[in-house]
Amino acid sequence: MSKKFKIAVFEGDGIGPEIMAPTIRILNHLASKANEYQLDFKSTPAGAAHYLKTGEALPKKSLDIARSSDAILLSAMGLPDVRYSDGTEMSPQIDLRKELVLFAGVRPVRISAKEYSPLKIPKDREVDFVLIRESTEGLFFSQGNGEVMQDEARETLRITRDISEKLFRFAFNLAKDRKKLGRGSGEVVCVDKANMFRAFAFFRGIFEQEAEKYPDIKASSAYADVMALWMVQKPWEFDVLVTENMFGDILSELGAGLMGGLGIAPSADIGLDHAVFQPCHGTAPDIAGKNLANPFAMILSAAMMLEWLGIKHENKFMSLDAIKLREAVEKVLQDKNNVTRDLGGAASTSKAANAVLKQL
Ligand code: ATP
Repeated sequence: MSKKFKIAVFEGDGIGPEIMAPTIRILNHLASKANEYQLDFKSTPAGAAHYLKTGEALPKKSLDIARSSDAILLSAMGLPDVRYSDGTEMSPQIDLRKELVLFAGVRPVRISAKEYSPLKIPKDREVDFVLIRESTEGLFFSQGNGEVMQDEARETLRITRDISEKLFRFAFNLAKDRKKLGRGSGEVVCVDKANMFRAFAFFRGIFEQEAEKYPDIKASSAYADVMALWMVQKPWEFDVLVTENMFGDILSELGAGLMGGLGIAPSADIGLDHAVFQPCHGTAPDIAGKNLANPFAMILSAAMMLEWLGIKHENKFMSLDAIKLREAVEKVLQDKNNVTRDLGGAASTSKAANAVLKQL
């Protein structure tokens, strides 16, 4: 009997349900074709619409389902007009990262179809690097608890040795795996602001200590502002970048822009025991319910889920399906008739997703 994997599904708000439905269809298709693993999807309520109905953005029951699942698929949650009483937008996906200690935010920046990138990429250059954003602390540590006084406001940045060590180990191991697959030069760059802040000097110190344990991987450091420049000027030079939460938040959006937009930028938030796979984009309320959303970032995130499950459970069929799925999207991207408006096409969400199914 093939192993059954329980997948918690957060359909979320805005365009969330529209991009999740075809993604599940595609995953079911792959699983039934391979017949070597099964996926048992469990719909899990949370988000802004759920908050309006129940007063809870991330109910305990949903968190329990997520905790007991093999992996979590999430589209996007939150809506600009649905806010907590202090004016902040709810972000159950960030609560989930903290609750499940998903410290490694994995944001691949892979430019397979150069025509969608705003960069002029030389023919002989390949852009294929991974940005790892710490996702549980940093400047997001005080989220929702910042101090606001009469004429002053403060937020606290937190960097811990424990999480930083785990984060850097994750980055070095990823660089090792990529090197084995011939996809990277075997180099990790720590992105920080160690010249200005003691907390980042501490962060860099831990990076350098961890680097000594990986003699086969090159380690270097760069300042976050300079990295923003280099990501535009010479993105083909990077393999694995690792950084604090807020810098990662900003740089991953830049990475998505380099690829051609949020519609094709996948991501994963990974811890020691759990992982959430979700597109980099938000709920895009401006196009929700119109069958206009690009489903590729969600589908590529599902491919990352198969890859992660395949490695974790030593299931080579899942690993193969992960590659198949990523390559199917990359192939579909080559035909403008199959891409959505954000990429200059005219295809609907359903048409774009069906093209991936057909390609598979
Ligand atoms: P969040 O704060 O939740 O990350 P955001 O405010 O940054 O969200 P998004 O919801 O990601 O914003 O949307 C930013 C812009 O990108 C919007 O104009 C939206 O329509 C567009 N966009 C986002 N995702 C997609 C998608 N999958 N397909 C097409 N357009 C998208």
